[in-house]
Amino acid sequence: MHELITLTSNLREPAREPVACANGNGPRVFIQTYGCQMNVSDSQTIESMLGEAGYRFCGTADEADVVLVNTCMIRETAEVRALGQLANLSSLKKRNPAMVIGILGCVAQAKRREILESHAYVDMVVGPDSYRRLPLLLEERFISAPGAPGLLETTLMREELYDDVLPRHHGGVTAFVTIIRGCDKFCSFCVVPRTRGRERSRPLPSILREVTHLTEQGVRDVMLLGQNVDSYRWDDKDFADCLLAVAELPAVSRVRFMTSHPTDISEKLLRTMGEHEKICPYLHLPVQAGSNRVLREMNRPYTRERYLEIIALARELVPGIALSTDVIVGFPTETEDEFEETFTLMEQVRYDTAFMFKYSERPLTKAAQRMKDDVPEDVKVARLERLISLQQKIARERNEAQLGRQTSVLIEGLAPKDGAMWAGRTPDFRPVVLPKNGESVGELVPVRLESLTGFTFHGAREN
Ligand code: SF4
Repeated sequence: MHELITLTSNLREPAREPVACANGNGPRVFIQTYGCQMNVSDSQTIESMLGEAGYRFCGTADEADVVLVNTCMIRETAEVRALGQLANLSSLKKRNPAMVIGILGCVAQAKRREILESHAYVDMVVGPDSYRRLPLLLEERFISAPGAPGLLETTLMREELYDDVLPRHHGGVTAFVTIIRGCDKFCSFCVVPRTRGRERSRPLPSILREVTHLTEQGVRDVMLLGQNVDSYRWDDKDFADCLLAVAELPAVSRVRFMTSHPTDISEKLLRTMGEHEKICPYLHLPVQAGSNRVLREMNRPYTRERYLEIIALARELVPGIALSTDVIVGFPTETEDEFEETFTLMEQVRYDTAFMFKYSERPLTKAAQRMKDDVPEDVKVARLERLISLQQKIARERNEAQLGRQTSVLIEGLAPKDGAMWAGRTPDFRPVVLPKNGESVGELVPVRLESLTGFTFHGAREN
């Protein structure tokens, strides 16, 4: 099924194919990215398309001819930060009226009219499925119609995969690769299915082409991305097949993925993880709540019991697996007892990492339309603080249990605070620093975890 994807712009409709800017001498673009890894990956796709069209990139909005803000609205704080950035851009635009300002991402998709009406200095508002239009829209602005007046609205009947675009890699040994876009789950608190459309999987050959291209640039650690990677389907291949195909590329040292959904994760996937050395023993499996009634209200179609079964199976099939999760406290109608069920679930699972949030009402979601945000703010804060302090204690204990362990570290680069040390990660994603001793970036080094400072390990090379 296809949803209407809307692109809205203050520019008039471009009537022809773009003419590339003079190579290496085109306008300078600054992209500010907010939110999840999907947005980071999208920004790299945009950079690739704009780079092809002759645009250059710069590190600050001050030196840019084009400023693009890639927004996120999964949490209220991310949206507020992104929209706060617009106020700064307004003063830049006053100083440089020729500057083009574009708003991209989920906020752009969901609030296009509001943005254009209340921010006159914004030139274009482009949703996540319309980025192919950016070179054309910018071209129109720079070549054909500087200062073009009027409001344009274009409706596109397609959902994008960008599967023919090789995202611009920024260097380093780690890269994100999007394998599936959109989401069909419609969790009642989440706006993603409305802003990013329905699920569509990228053809496996195009994923392998992108990963190969990245490894040619030195990437060794690949993170496969999707709102729900477990529902990946292409031809007769499922997500486990896709993961294995990436892991089998000779130049890939490690492959990870994010995000999984408890309804769709398969035993086959867990077995594949356990059987293949290059697939990292790390699983991000959002639980969101520990109460079955709250899960039903969230439209998360699994139970606490089923979730715990999956965790037990993951621990059985993937020895040493590290687990992380997302949790929302203070969902509408959540009682104190129901919050306790989340608390006890976290005590039981003992996650290595957890991303914990207070519920915030998101526009266009079922929860916002049908439920009152009725848990008082002070109660939400108190619940969140309890959960955070529990999780910090568990994470510390789980880290301390790692001391003395022999593992491998993928060298990512110099330690930020000490040029005599390397920084890298274990297969289960724990940060490690170790003394430099002739290794190089991208190398897998056998290491013993010797001590901890905060959440960072100090390792010693094993021979
Ligand atoms: S699975 Fe739920 S929370 Fe995740 S993107 Fe889809 S709708 Fe949103």
